[in-house]
Amino acid sequence: MQMIVECSNCGRKNQVDALKVKAALCDSCKEQLVDEDVIPAAFSDDEIAAAVEAAPSGVVIEEVETDKYISRIGNHEEQVNYVNKGFWSKVKKYAAKVPFSHEAVSMYYCAMDPATPTAAKVTAISALAYFILPIDVIPDFIPVAGFADDGTAVFIAYKAITIHITEEHRAKAAQFFAE
Ligand SMILES: [Zn+2]
Repeated sequence: MQMIVECSNCGRKNQVDALKVKAALCDSCKEQLVDEDVIPAAFSDDEIAAAVEAAPSGVVIEEVETDKYISRIGNHEEQVNYVNKGFWSKVKKYAAKVPFSHEAVSMYYCAMDPATPTAAKVTAISALAYFILPIDVIPDFIPVAGFADDGTAVFIAYKAITIHITEEHRAKAAQFFAE
């Protein structure tokens, strides 16, 4: 099973075997194609390959089971670390391409606000972790986790915690995108 992975170093689109994607190097600059932080170690090559194979095309996903993927990153605290490590660089790089980027950023501020109830934080963080999980592995992997092309997971989570997303969170997000 082949997939296309764009090199973040030189931009070359590499065709790689999905079974070896975690170890793959760019044909041109020999940089490692997939940052280890992007695909948690708990995901096996087989699972990645299966996900690539199962990638839907033009299928509308009504519900997204984030738990299946996100629980692999670890507990809530580990998910917070994962999001903190990867969120901003991913958003900056892909904001124009990924729907619901504004909602994702508002949700990030909500999740980091000490005033937000824990349950809402957990929902937000798991959706954000899901949001950034496969985004570096493009484009075939993106629909795999069933989210990034339409942002469903982010949108569902955003709606679920919407009463906890304040004007301040939204204003901070607007400011981020205005910069
Ligand atoms: Zn390269």
